[in-house]
Amino acid sequence: MDVPAAHYIGRLAPSPTGLLHLGHAATFWIAYQRARAAGGKLLLRNEDLDPQRSQPQFVDAMLQDLAWLGIEWQPPMLSQSARLDAYREAFDRLLASGTVYPCTCSRRKLAQMTQAPHEDDDEPVYSGRCLPARGTVSSFDSNASYRFRVPDGESIQFADGGFGPQSYIPGRDFGDFLVWRRPLGPRQPGAPSYQLACVVDDAFMSITEVVRGADLLRSTARQILLQRALGLPPVTYFHTPLLRDATGVRLAKRHDALALRTLRQRGLSPAEVRSRFTPE
Ligand code: GLU
Repeated sequence: MDVPAAHYIGRLAPSPTGLLHLGHAATFWIAYQRARAAGGKLLLRNEDLDPQRSQPQFVDAMLQDLAWLGIEWQPPMLSQSARLDAYREAFDRLLASGTVYPCTCSRRKLAQMTQAPHEDDDEPVYSGRCLPARGTVSSFDSNASYRFRVPDGESIQFADGGFGPQSYIPGRDFGDFLVWRRPLGPRQPGAPSYQLACVVDDAFMSITEVVRGADLLRSTARQILLQRALGLPPVTYFHTPLLRDATGVRLAKRHDALALRTLRQRGLSPAEVRSRFTPE
């Protein structure tokens, strides 16, 4: 296996908003194998930023399911809900550098912004309605959401370990994206978007390689821009093919029949589950 060698640090980053299913297992198994082959570490990050959908029982379930499947990771687990100050500090740096601006649009999908966009959940290219003149440095308004100003037309390139050379054009493949979400109700705090929390934590955990599903390839281009703006070290990426059912639909949490738990209750062994996504 072609794995970056020295000091490999990988991570598993599940969201405790449902049960782990076969699609997660396939990606996490590859992450585990790559960390092992490099003689490195695999860390666990609990992406529990969505207060409405994250549930402690799903954290317990994911720990049990990972252990059952035979995936070892190095404690302690990092929970994003405990790291809001770090995200706010990074956000303040973006604000001071003039790379983000307040936005009053997009009320509808705001609640989802702490979650990674998977396939058709991705943010549409932003119209630019709230975009201020270049050079404007905005102040913090606790009731506003903020977008990152992407360099329109620049090509963002990276060599993906799984899919080869990648190139994305901001303004075409994705627009100014949300980095901070305003409070969803009275007496509630604002929150970082998935994109911001992810780059802050990948740097904090000294991750050298991110292994995750191919539906996040476009998010990788966004995250490279954020790393650059925050002066964070670059990371290498290895995206994994998405598992699909017979009708071509991505195997997602909503496919309860493919939750690891269900497969286990049906009597499948960990090795039988792994054989569904690892060639013999
Ligand atoms: N919590 C995200 C997810 O459920 C992780 C994305 C990532 O690995 O960056 O997909």
